[in-house]
Amino acid sequence: MNSIICLKQVPDTEAQILATPDGSDVKLDGVKFIISPYDEFGIEEALLQKEKAGGGEVTLVCMGPARSVEAIRTGLAMGADKAVHLDDEAFNGSDAQAAAKALAAQIKGMQYDIIYCGRQAIDDDQSQVGPALAELLGLPHTSLVTKLEVAADKKSVKVNRQIVGGEEILELPLPCVLTCQKGLNEPRYASLPGIMKAKKKPLQPVKAAEIGIDAGTIGAAGSGTRVVKYTAPPARTAAKIIGGESPEEKAANLAKALREEAKAI
Ligand SMILES: Cc1cc2nc3c(=O)[nH]c(=O)nc-3n(C[C@H](O)[C@H](O)[C@H](O)COP(=O)(O)OP(=O)(O)OC[C@H]3O[C@@H](n4cnc5c(N)ncnc54)[C@H](O)[C@@H]3O)c2cc1C
Repeated sequence: MNSIICLKQVPDTEAQILATPDGSDVKLDGVKFIISPYDEFGIEEALLQKEKAGGGEVTLVCMGPARSVEAIRTGLAMGADKAVHLDDEAFNGSDAQAAAKALAAQIKGMQYDIIYCGRQAIDDDQSQVGPALAELLGLPHTSLVTKLEVAADKKSVKVNRQIVGGEEILELPLPCVLTCQKGLNEPRYASLPGIMKAKKKPLQPVKAAEIGIDAGTIGAAGSGTRVVKYTAPPARTAAKIIGGESPEEKAANLAKALREEAKAI
């Protein structure tokens, strides 16, 4: 089984992200970066499927600035075989559609059975790149996958995906694009030997010109959307503890506060 994982480096879930004073950007100085957690499910699944099939190759494809190498090396340390890093100023300012175009141009000539993306990247949260990539490559796609089983003949895959109140089970021909949801697996940690081995695994930097993509279709020039402003959510008001001697009295006080102070009921 040959798999590709689209991996995005994102700020750590615990990082506090602030907008610049004019709101034109976000401040990333001193921020710790990680692999977007939903992409880790993709790496783990690709490794499990490779182990099950008894062979194949797991390749990471990442578009991002130079610092993304750290996330790529972590993915290689988890067990991926090799990586491609789309690293060029021409990619700067790409929105989700332009990012998908760049990834598709790279992936077009590669060998794969399944392309895994996260259900969303946990910084920009657009949930667009996986479906857009599938469309650009002319591949079947499904999202929010929580379980998958590749057919014995390796020509199709059966996947479970979450829907409200249950699960939907779908069958897709291979190759296809899947976006990963929490619950798909338990991503492994990079072991110390894995970290050592990762240093020697192939990591190919790629410029826009090498993937035959027209610079006008990526970056800010190729993006249909433009960030007008970043703003922080309004500061929360202090919480109020509702008192009372008994559960009934507390409930009555809560109802009173909701009616008279919050005017919510
Ligand atoms: C107007 C605009 C300008 C931007 N400018 C920049 C910029 O200058 N520099 C910058 O770093 N970002 C920039 N971004 C953000 C960046 O391009 C996002 O990666 C892109 O918008 C995708 O959206 P998302 O991250 O919400 O992805 P989602 O669609 O939520 O991601 C889903 C999955 O797609 C895959 N994926 C997403 N992005 C990548 C990637 N880059 N490489 C590999 N796989 C990926 C991952 O598997 C991910 O889990 C900009 C965004 C906008 C809207």
